[in-house]
Order: sequence, then structure tokens, then C-alpha cells
Amino acid sequence: MPRKLSYLPILAIIGLLLSNNVAIAQTESRMAPKGVTQKEVAEFNTAVNQYNNKDFQPASEKFKQLSEAHPDFLDTYIMYGAALLRLGKPEDAIPVLHAAENIDPNDGLMIFTLGTTYMLTGKNERAVEKFQKYIRLHPKDQFASESQARVNLLSTEIARNKGIMSSKGQDNYLDEAMAMGAMRWKSSQMPIPIYIAPGQDKVGYRDEFTDILKQAFATWSDASQGKFIYKFVSDPSDSLIECSWSDDQTTLANPAEGGQAMPMSSLDGSLMGGRITLLTKKGAQTNLPSNIVRSIALHEVGHMLGMLGHSSQPGDIMLGATSDGTQLLGLSDRDKKTIYLLYTAPDEVIKAHPVKTTNVAFQGSQTSPENKAALLTADAIHEIDQKHYTKALELLEEAKKLAPSMEVIYLDLAKIYNELGNEAIKNHDYASVKKNFDLAITNLIKAKRKELAVQYCDIILRIASRDSNSADITKYTKLKRELTGSN
Ligand SMILES: [Zn+2]
Repeated sequence: MPRKLSYLPILAIIGLLLSNNVAIAQTESRMAPKGVTQKEVAEFNTAVNQYNNKDFQPASEKFKQLSEAHPDFLDTYIMYGAALLRLGKPEDAIPVLHAAENIDPNDGLMIFTLGTTYMLTGKNERAVEKFQKYIRLHPKDQFASESQARVNLLSTEIARNKGIMSSKGQDNYLDEAMAMGAMRWKSSQMPIPIYIAPGQDKVGYRDEFTDILKQAFATWSDASQGKFIYKFVSDPSDSLIECSWSDDQTTLANPAEGGQAMPMSSLDGSLMGGRITLLTKKGAQTNLPSNIVRSIALHEVGHMLGMLGHSSQPGDIMLGATSDGTQLLGLSDRDKKTIYLLYTAPDEVIKAHPVKTTNVAFQGSQTSPENKAALLTADAIHEIDQKHYTKALELLEEAKKLAPSMEVIYLDLAKIYNELGNEAIKNHDYASVKKNFDLAITNLIKAKRKELAVQYCDIILRIASRDSNSADITKYTKLKRELTGSN
């Protein structure tokens, strides 16, 4: 009779983009194979406790030893593999988990851990295969929803990197970073004003989080060798980058993430604004380790500087997956080189990589309003390209209801009113010009593009002065003064 093992297997569950160790709350009872002595069961349980206390080195040694003594002891391999992940050695975990797979190819814990290992080593296709297998065989088990979220993210990642050469062996991953298109901040806009919202009202928030986030901007700025410079501002309406905290992971486009960045660019690839959201807790875990917050912050700030794509290689902060076991407390040499190359590349290189809007839309959870809004916005842009403005307006109004603070929606609305206003100019329908450009102004203000809004004020003022419309002259002169901040 196999003996019953009772232990708490807390596996390293590492989220994409983010990263987190999700503690498995319940005790799992699993069987030890024949021939495992009572003493060895006790040793195993001790090693599990060490693992739970983050003593990964001695735990991994014990699991290794037990697996050598009992080549059919499935759980020692899984735990040994998990410990190697937590020690930042995902490549070493692969053969160990393959050995576990040979013992029982259908074990859920094994499949999920192996999928995680593939994900952390950049083997996205194989990771998807494993997570899909988990969902198929264990649809009601604890990692099913996490597996689904990872399948969604990794599938997006695979689609993005189609046709892009792997950066393996190179000293940078600029091609991968530009796989969805190239964006960067223009030097004329610098220093980029950044606002960080207070997080004290969010569950799990600690004061050091804001310092960590500020440090993340400093780290990238250093890596860019002064090409990206910034300043912090205390009023969100003065900012181009707005950072906030959330204790509700359903507010993210993909709930498997620990944070998200939504950069917004014009068609020529210049960044115009964006938002970063970082989680202060993940699931039931309210005490997020500082190094996880640091990894997530660095990763999301990297996106906000214009690296839309991910590195395929472990060790880079812009890998699509990070682990608190891999000790990614800073940027790799490749990260540094890539941001420097992005900011020193000729404008032609940026223009040659137009942003693929449909790829920017998140393909994560269908229940996240922000995700739905991003998809609607992508559809709307497609309609705008075909001059289907009524349809595009409908889509954007719907997106606005779902995610009223998503600036890109207002920018796209302004784009439509700009087109409609220009058409009206051609038709000499000045009432319609004024109406549409006024709407463009309203939306540009919401998108924080005051300098663009001013240009529309100027056009309306020109028409008003030609028509001697003193009411409009007064109204738009005043508005222009407010927008240029000369009051
Ligand atoms: Zn990312």
C-alpha cells in the first residue's frame, strides 16, 4: 500500500509580465511510491517546509537526493523542478520535469510547472501546449483559469513574433521589441512629465512601491544614456505618463498580469501619452515581495518607453515572463543596449515599423472592460481607415463607456472629428467645421493633447473673425488662453 503524504506544495507560479508566487492554500494529499521509507517521507515534508520558507537551495538538494534514490517518486521531481525555477535556473528545471513527465504525463502539478518552465525559457509554443493540456485534463482544478490566461497572453506573443528573428546570441533584442511596431518619446517633449497616483487606499500598497516605481524610471533613463529624460509632476493633468495602483486584478486587460502599460502613439511612432497600472496584490496574496514589484515596474516602464514587444531570452527584464526566483532586480546588458538603440535609431527606422493597432489590443480576458475597450478601439481604427466614421464613432462611444479613462479613445474620436471638419471645409459648410472642430478640442483635452487642441481653436478663430462672430471670438480666445496655460 502506498503511504499517504501530506504536505503543502507551494509551487512557484509565475505570472506573465508580472510575476507572482501564488500560494496554494489547501493541503494536497499525494501518494508516495512503494519503497519510500517513513524517514524519507519526513525528509520530503521537511524539504517542502524549507521550500515554503523560501529556503530553496537546501530544499532543492533534498528533492534531488530523494529523486535519485527513488526514480519513480513523481513529487520529488516536480518539487525539485519548482525549486530550480525559484532559484532562477529554469533551463536546469527542464530535464528534471521531463523525468517527472515520464513517470506520469497527465499529472496536473507537473504539467503546470513544466508549462511555466517553458514560458520562463522563452519556449512559448511548448508552454501553450502544456497549459492547454492542463485545461483539457484538469478543467476544474486550481490552475485552470491561470492556465487559460497564460494561453491567451502567450498566443498573442507568438503571433507578434511571427517572422521576427530570435535575438538569441545577440547583444540586443531591438527587432523583438519592435515586433508590434516602433514607438519612442520625442526629444522635443522631454523631460516627460510623469504623475504617480497615491496608493495608500489600495490593499497591499506599501510606501516603498512609489520609490520602486520612481527608481524604475531612473534605471531606464540611465540605460538610455540620457536619451530619455523625465520629471515627476504633482498634477495628473500636467502629465503625459500617468501611473496608478490597483488592488483588483480584474481591472487589468489580462488578469494573469501584475501590471500593464498602455502607451499611446501617433501614426509616425512618436509617443504621446500613456498609463501604467501596477497591482498592489495578486489574488489572495497581499504581501507582494519588493523584488516582484520592482521587476513588474521595470518591465512596464520599459513598455512605456516604447518597447512594445518582448524579449525572447531569459535574463532580460522585457522577457514576457519574469520570476521572483530569477532575481531580475535590474536591467540586463541586452535591456540597456536595446533601449539605447531604440532612442538612437534614425527616424526612418521608427517609421519603417508602424504600430499594428490590432496587435496592441490585448487578447486577454474577455470580461475585462479595458480589454474589450481596447479591442473596440482597434476595430474603430480599422473603420476610420476606411472612412466609415459613423461606425467608428459608435464603436468608440461604446469603448468610452467601458473604459472612460482610456485616453487613446479620445484621441481617436478627435481624429474622426478632424476628418469630418476637414470635409466640411471642402464643402464650405462652416457651421459644421466649427461643430466638428469643437468636438475635436473637447476630445483632445481629454486625451491630454492641449497643444493640438490649440490648433483647432486657431482655425475656429480664423473663421469667427472672418464672419465677425464676436461671441465665438471671445469664447475661443478664452479657451485658447486656458489651454496654453497663460492664465
Ligand atoms: Zn510585457
